[in-house]
Amino acid sequence: MRVGIIGCGYVGLTTGVCLAELGHRVVCVDNDEEKIKKLLSGTLPIYEPGLDKLIKKNKNKIKFSTNIKDAVVNNEIIFICVGTPSNPDGSPDLSYVENVAREIAKYLDSYKIIVEKSTVPVETADWIKKTIERYKKNNVEFDVVSNPEFLREGTAVHDFLYPDRIVIGVESEKAKKSMLRLYQKIKSPKIVVDTKSAELIKHASNSFLATKISFINAVANICELSGADVEKVALGMGLDKRIGKDFLKAGIGYGGSCFPKDVNAFIWISEKLGYDFSLLKEVKKINERQRELFIKKIEDTLWTLKDKTIGILGLSFKPNTDDIREAPSIYIIKSLKEKGAKIKAYDPKAMVKMKQVFPDITYCDNPYEVAKNSDCVVILTEWSEFRKLDLKKIKNLLNQPIIIDGRNIFEPQKMTKLGFVYKCIGRK
Ligand code: NAD
Repeated sequence: MRVGIIGCGYVGLTTGVCLAELGHRVVCVDNDEEKIKKLLSGTLPIYEPGLDKLIKKNKNKIKFSTNIKDAVVNNEIIFICVGTPSNPDGSPDLSYVENVAREIAKYLDSYKIIVEKSTVPVETADWIKKTIERYKKNNVEFDVVSNPEFLREGTAVHDFLYPDRIVIGVESEKAKKSMLRLYQKIKSPKIVVDTKSAELIKHASNSFLATKISFINAVANICELSGADVEKVALGMGLDKRIGKDFLKAGIGYGGSCFPKDVNAFIWISEKLGYDFSLLKEVKKINERQRELFIKKIEDTLWTLKDKTIGILGLSFKPNTDDIREAPSIYIIKSLKEKGAKIKAYDPKAMVKMKQVFPDITYCDNPYEVAKNSDCVVILTEWSEFRKLDLKKIKNLLNQPIIIDGRNIFEPQKMTKLGFVYKCIGRK
């Protein structure tokens, strides 16, 4: 099939490349000229494991352009994959989606399926439809489909090609048939529903996962106050099939470009529809408090922070990505700097992006350089290379043998045996 992709970020690029891998012809468009220049020269604008190989393998089936017209004309299915960030009041900024809908309308030349892949509040498909109707220049027919994306950065290619399910929200038999044909090589279950239900599935899923994280973080705080061990509690809970062990990892809270904004958007749309989703408001509050409690933990360990050197390991919002959007590290580093601490940091992939946020902290080539002459090491992202650190070497390099671990990657007893003051989340 012939497919147009609008927005070449984590979702759009992965979608385009994976659809080419499934045998389709794809035109990927972005209005960021730098991004397209990079892609045309064979460089990836983002770090996503496996994506570079797949682009090379399918390069004859993928074209890149900065012109939306190229994504529309001659293509049967057009994916909208632009960002939907939060406005300051928590509502989603749908201006990118609206903009793209208007542009698509201009170039409609035959029947097309417009797919909203971006995460959007319920009723957005209706708005896209109204917008295209309003701006289209001729009488061609079209369908708007909701096909939310569930990929995770770091494992995006695998998640796209082997998803737990594919959700397809349609209002016509014709669109349903085309979408099922598009994905026929993927063997996962396909849930075909109406567009509103599809839109809600995405917000409800992300909000539920965020709820699980905040729940275990709240339990971690009770563990700390009572002397229990949250890792043991989570194991005991997670083995119950009704609960499941995923997303029961206590830490410094969720971040990233999805959970915070999707929880905000779900609270906002619920309110707009006349329902006060107070549970989600609390999920958000617990998440924010978790970062504050972690900063307090650092202060409780080091006492004053003025002129102390704090070594940070991990900047990305989670491992295996260079994405720092809404990363807890940004909030924590900002707060530590305000309290007068000097920051040294290392991350395997996210330092280039973090330099734009904090140009004035010291970036190191490896974790050992971070530890050297620092007053403590603070772990903010659970990259697997941190689990394999030579801890004796770290201990010798530090001014004081202190590790404050926001991701529970080490065993407290082992760390104490090694002579560390080791503070983590929800366990002693
Ligand atoms: P992103 O910011 O990485 O990419 C969006 C891209 O759209 C950017 O490259 C931007 O330049 C481009 N763009 C914006 N306006 C444009 C226009 N008018 N014409 C052409 N291109 C335009 O965002 P992302 O992380 O890929 O997320 C996209 C959407 O998918 C969001 O709604 C997000 O919530 C959702 N989503 C993201 C993930 C994830 O893990 N990142 C997972 C599932 C769903």
